[in-house]
Amino acid sequence: MPDNLVALFYARQAGHADKVALEWQGSPVCTFGELPARVGRYVAALRQLGVTRGDRVMVKTENSPAFVFTYLAVLASGAVFVPLNAAYTAAEVALLMEDAEPVLLVHAAATAVPPAGAGPVRATLEPDGSGSLTDLAASLAPDLAVEPVAATDLAAILFTSGTTGRPKGAMLMHRNLSSNVAALYETWQFSDRDTILHALPMFHAHGLFVALHLGLYSAATLRMIAKFDAAKVVSLLPSVSVFMGVPTFYTRLLDRADFTREVAGGLRLFISGSAPLLPSVFAAFEERTGHRILERYGMTEAVMITSNPYPQAGRIPGTVGYPLPGVELRVVGGEWRGELPPGEVGEIEIRGPNLCAGYWRRPEATAESFGPDGFFITGDTGFRDPDGRVTIAGRSKDLIISGGFNVYPAELEILFAEIEGVSDVAIIGVPHPDFGEAVVALVTASDPAFDAGAIERLAQERLARFKQPKAVHVLAEFPRNAMGKVLKAELRKTYAAQFTEKAG
Ligand code: AMP
Repeated sequence: MPDNLVALFYARQAGHADKVALEWQGSPVCTFGELPARVGRYVAALRQLGVTRGDRVMVKTENSPAFVFTYLAVLASGAVFVPLNAAYTAAEVALLMEDAEPVLLVHAAATAVPPAGAGPVRATLEPDGSGSLTDLAASLAPDLAVEPVAATDLAAILFTSGTTGRPKGAMLMHRNLSSNVAALYETWQFSDRDTILHALPMFHAHGLFVALHLGLYSAATLRMIAKFDAAKVVSLLPSVSVFMGVPTFYTRLLDRADFTREVAGGLRLFISGSAPLLPSVFAAFEERTGHRILERYGMTEAVMITSNPYPQAGRIPGTVGYPLPGVELRVVGGEWRGELPPGEVGEIEIRGPNLCAGYWRRPEATAESFGPDGFFITGDTGFRDPDGRVTIAGRSKDLIISGGFNVYPAELEILFAEIEGVSDVAIIGVPHPDFGEAVVALVTASDPAFDAGAIERLAQERLARFKQPKAVHVLAEFPRNAMGKVLKAELRKTYAAQFTEKAG
């Protein structure tokens, strides 16, 4: 097996020269046979701009086929791909540039970046694929060489979203990416007969390492669109076999009357991840389409970690399934961080070929996250069933301790989402003079006249007193990041003084 991920992709695509590899906004872009030359022109451009093995190339632009070619060219050159969230401000980019020290910054002209000066060479790449990088690539003969890197060489650095503190760069090695895509290919039964609808941002692991990689590894056609657009997705679904999304994609599809059983009928698989999928959404989706969404769990530092099983009946809502082949997972707790028995909530730790090499230039953060036996502390809490199935209880920093008792947000979020009219729930803890922390329930509702009393009534009926929310707020919308994750830190800030002020 070639160690350079790009060489692995090309080897896997052998025999599919005439098949369309990428489509963009409904039109074919290139076949698998044409792909190496398309990438090779960008390899030549990178070389001309001074990029050599081990150099970082920072990229801040929207999804496009040229984004894909640039990504593959960086890896083929033996360089390290550093994608940035397109929404970052110039000040945020400046900090990350200082940290990653790229030799080249590729960006859209209109996107926020620090003013040019000393520092990396710059090239532009627009959302429509044009720009100085593409112009240079088009003027050069393709360089088809693929650098023979070691499996442990870095392929990419992805900065974790880091809602608090300085973002940390997870160092992903070629072998992390190749082992993970192979495990997903097996687990989700991909083949060259698949067509994938790709609507996820590619600056994030979900869009880059899951959706894109599965297409390239399986020699499956990737139908890419610029970004998620529910109407466009409904129109394209009948022509694909697999759709991958974050939970908000699924709720937005369900909001549309034209998202029907017929539209979803031809697909073999709908996958969800990056944030918890509410069982209420799972159930509504099954009722509408007959499909049980396959939920999986992953994170930037380890790509994909667990997945529900492929057979429909094995997909259990509210759970994230079993560790992928080759991945070890344990739930630990107590003073000695010992492994906990089934059913007990503790911290999730993992080890395996998917696990990144640590955080870029942050030895102290790396040391804090990796135990002496190589297990990585994910920062998520959860429990296992006796047969090993994993359920996530929430980020450890979202754990609420009220009156000395642990309250796991996911348990309440799932319960309240069952109430008629509730579209989403976020449970947070805020300071309370008597209890240390108090549970606060925030809900979004489809009906503006939704009665918050329904939450209180269900809580009294179903939950121990210490878990019952001490306040309920109905909001129009939650603050979310680019992947649709609810920004709980922001919500905690908003409601921080709600009990302490009253007490004072
Ligand atoms: P990121 O590094 O941005 O991909 O975020 C990773 C985090 O997203 C994980 O540590 C989890 O907290 C959360 N996450 C990902 N998938 C799931 C899931 N299926 N259910 C619950 N949380 C998830």
